[in-house]
Amino acid sequence: MHLSVCLPKVEPLHIEPPTHCPLPDPKNPKRKCNGTHFKEHQCNCRKPIRDTRHHQVTAHRYRCLKCQRTFRVYPAGVSRDQQSDTLKGLSVRLYILGLSYQGAADLLETLQYPLAKSTVYKNVQAAGYHAIQLREQWLKQQAGKVKVLGLDFTHVKCQGQSRIVAVATAVLTGQPLTFELLDSESAFHAERWIRGIAKMLGAEVLVTDDADGLKNVAEALGLDQQICRAHVNRNVEDLIAVLGTQALEHPPPVPWELQAEGITVDQFLEDLSTVENIICGVPFDGQPQLEQLATQYQYAPPTDPRAQGNHVVSVSAAGRGLV
Ligand SMILES: [Zn+2]
Repeated sequence: MHLSVCLPKVEPLHIEPPTHCPLPDPKNPKRKCNGTHFKEHQCNCRKPIRDTRHHQVTAHRYRCLKCQRTFRVYPAGVSRDQQSDTLKGLSVRLYILGLSYQGAADLLETLQYPLAKSTVYKNVQAAGYHAIQLREQWLKQQAGKVKVLGLDFTHVKCQGQSRIVAVATAVLTGQPLTFELLDSESAFHAERWIRGIAKMLGAEVLVTDDADGLKNVAEALGLDQQICRAHVNRNVEDLIAVLGTQALEHPPPVPWELQAEGITVDQFLEDLSTVENIICGVPFDGQPQLEQLATQYQYAPPTDPRAQGNHVVSVSAAGRGLV
């Protein structure tokens, strides 16, 4: 795995003069003062910081000519906080690399950049909030650009509990778009989450796995649905492996309905191989080949209601995947 780490730097001599007053409007504290002209008031304000290289920097103080109040302007990589942006970024990256909040704080202490566990926690939360905002801004810029939207679920462990993560991707580029923690994989929760995203992106096709509930989601959103080929291939291969192993090791007697069609166990194994080749290879005549096989086996009696259900779903999914 290649990791690229880019941390913000502290540049003590780089102080950008202000362009807007950062203070609240004295007449309306909910708004910011709209002053844009300033006078340097003090240029040697000492500011102690926690950083990997610097113990202290110099800030400038400016007076806003509109509200007549003063405020500090810090060098690049420094803010009002006691810690520099470098140290904030380092603590967040340590957490992302797998250390706990306490683990990151202990390592920084060992490196002689002490930060409290609670400070590491606040840094990670602030970075996460900022990342979400940036992702939302980027997602809005994708409006009208994603016609084929993919929806899939995965499971992750959070605090020892399995959580469901829904992931939306731009199928044609393979680019991940966004994700969300959902209460369940039900059509209700999936639709509620994906509806706004699909509308904003201008999606026309929803690509999902072969769960029937997601077909309903696509219908409810007025989108065409395509079954994800990776899911189709995997599910059909798993089913063929189970049926093939059973036929080889403990072949059941061939039902008379299939004997009448001239089907033997060897023929069944050969047909399984044919289905696998059709699903994985997608030949131009795959659809009629599948239909012919379905006709040959249509009178096969179900032996297990659950097995029957699984077969119907898989064959249905395979057929839809080929369309
Ligand atoms: Zn002002």
